[in-house]
Formats: sequence, C-alpha cells, structure tokens
Amino acid sequence: MIPITRATLPPFDSLENEVRELFATGIITNHQSVQKLENVLQEYLGVKHAIALSSCTSGMMLVMKALGLQGEVIVPSFTFSASGHAILWNGLTPRFVEINPETYTINVQEVEKAINSKTSAILAVHIFGCPAPANELEELAQKYNLKLIFDAAHALGSKINTTFVGNFGDAEIFSCSPTKLMVTGEGGIVTTNNDELARKVRIGRTYGDPGDYNCEFPGLSARMSEFNALLGLQSLKMLESNIEKRNQLTQLYKEHLSSLPGIQFQAVPLQLRTTYKDFAILLNPKEFGMSRDLLAEELHQQGIQIKKYFCPPLHLQKAYAHFLPQYLQQLKATEQLAQNILSLPLYSHMPEQEVFFITKIIKEIYQKIKSEKGA
Ligand SMILES: *Cc1c(COP(=O)(O)O)cnc(C)c1O
Repeated sequence: MIPITRATLPPFDSLENEVRELFATGIITNHQSVQKLENVLQEYLGVKHAIALSSCTSGMMLVMKALGLQGEVIVPSFTFSASGHAILWNGLTPRFVEINPETYTINVQEVEKAINSKTSAILAVHIFGCPAPANELEELAQKYNLKLIFDAAHALGSKINTTFVGNFGDAEIFSCSPTKLMVTGEGGIVTTNNDELARKVRIGRTYGDPGDYNCEFPGLSARMSEFNALLGLQSLKMLESNIEKRNQLTQLYKEHLSSLPGIQFQAVPLQLRTTYKDFAILLNPKEFGMSRDLLAEELHQQGIQIKKYFCPPLHLQKAYAHFLPQYLQQLKATEQLAQNILSLPLYSHMPEQEVFFITKIIKEIYQKIKSEKGA
C-alpha cells in the first residue's frame, strides 16, 4: 500500500546526544529546547512571538480565549474539523462561508456579506498550504473592527510575496503533527506580533497561571514537551528542502495527469508559495467518466491510499447539526468541491516512481471506462 503520507523524520543519530543531555538536565517539558525552537521559528518567520504548544487545536482555542471573542466567528466550511471545534469550545458560533472554487481558500466577498452585529472575528485557513488572501482579509478586519486569525496548520514555510505566513492578522496557528510540514510528534505553534496576546497565550498553555497560582482565566494544560521540541528543531532544518521536493513532486503529478479530461488542480496564484501539505485532484465526473467515490474505490483496490479532504465539510457534520438552519445554509461551491476532490499520496521523501505508478494507474482506469463506454 502506498500511504497517503509519511512523516519525513530526521536521522535518529541527530537526536541521540540531545536526548542524552535532556535526561541529564532532568527537566523534560516546556524548557530550554522549547525556548530554542520558539527562537529559531521567530527568526525563520520574521515574527515577534512564536509560542510552542501541545497542538494547533489547543493553540486556536487559546488564541480565541485570549482575544476575548464573543458571538460569531466567520470560518470556511471547507476545512479540517479542528478549525470549527476551536470555535465551539469557546462557546462561540461558527458562521460558515464559501471558498473560492479555484484556490479553495475563503471567499473574501462572501466574508464581507456574512459580517453582522454579532461578528467578532474571522478565522481563515491556508488550505493545503496555499495562503488565504491575507491582505484583503486584513483590510476587511480593519474596516469592520474584527479580529483576524489564521489556521496555518498546513502552511509552515508558505509565503505571500516575500512575507512568511505567520505574520498576518492577530495570530496564526501552525500544527506540527506527523502529517504536517515540520514534525514534532504532536504540537502546535502560535505566532503573533502582539505582545499582550503572546503573554496571554503563554500563560494560557499553563492553565492561565501567570506564575503565582492566581489564574487570570481558565487556560489549558497545553505545553510542548522537550522531546517534541528536540524533534522539531531537527525537522525544521529539513523544511526548506522538503517544501521544494513537494513542489517538484506536485509538478510531476500535474505533468502526468494534465492530459486526462476532467481533472483539475488547486490554483496557486503566482505571488504565493505553498507547502503542498496535500496534493489534491478535483474531478469532473462527467468529463472523466466516473465519480470521485468510484475512482477512490479503484485506487484503494490497487493499493493506493487516498483521502477525501475535506468531506463532509463542517456545516454537514453531526457536531454542527444543532445550529439553527440560518447557520447551516447550503454552500454550493463548498459542497461541489467536497464531493469531487481527492487527495493523492504525497510526502517529502516520496520516490518519483510512486508518482509514476499512481498516475499510470489513474490513466489505466480512465482508458478502461472509456473503452467500456465506447463498447
Ligand atoms: C491537522 C489540522 C489541524 C489540527 O492540528 P493538531 O495539531 O492536530 O491540533 C487544524 N487545522 C487544520 C486545517 C489541520 O489540517
């Protein structure tokens, strides 16, 4: 079976001495390696604060808590569940909006239409690593006095022109779980240029305790351990070359698939750099001659693991079904995308032969249905 993805791990030897030293210090969580990881990330991204936590989800929960949000948060429905869950855990209401059907990121015009007297923030997502339209969203947030947060789980190393993702809005939150670009095992990073927000997130990861056990607010237990940070420091050294490799592998996929009718790819505007956390194809079932689900089934039977990211979209998931119908109205572009998208295997150390093999299988499937239909 070719897996949908694999963590690209640093060589074990690169960690051996450091784990030994860590044992000698005896302090195994939220200490010098976590601080070092934060410092290296601040420098790499050019951002004032990077705060390491237990996950991207806990990071989003804490950022929303620290910003004191109330009422509604505008969020795309085409995203991973955690973007919405962080809103729910803060007792806030998600106001789902459409995506741009070309880039799959949040649709700025639809965001503006969704703003009302209850709106307190926008949570945008850099889908598959492709940056959301951050400059336009910053203008909107300023115009309507809203907070702006980015779920940057996929986008460590992504850029808008020369600016790294991590510098936009009030805060951005990265994930370092094993399917993401920089791997710490489990983990998340909050970045912000706002000193007070950074202070609150730092104490928020330790129950909300500023150090005197007189908690300012109900925080979480969401620290990063030293082991995770050591892995992250080594993983970060490979980040730039991993992004390059993913872009090359994606290019190869596109070259081999573009001759087939009914297959489209995520559009990544020229001024953006994406990490290709995922590579997805968008199927036009009529032109290709087969539904997404049937193609998925065929690929699975040939030993190719696929994922239907993000299907079902959030507004159709059980966890959101209790919201009033006006919060769950039909989102045509989102539903169309969720129904026809298919992520193919991609990981940073993937051999090119696997791309050749997968694209060959897809071509064979297409030829087979074409000849069956012709017969
Ligand atoms: C993986 C992912 C998350 C959750 O990250 P964790 O670190 O596992 O909490 C959040 N948002 C998106 C878009 C993701 O893909």
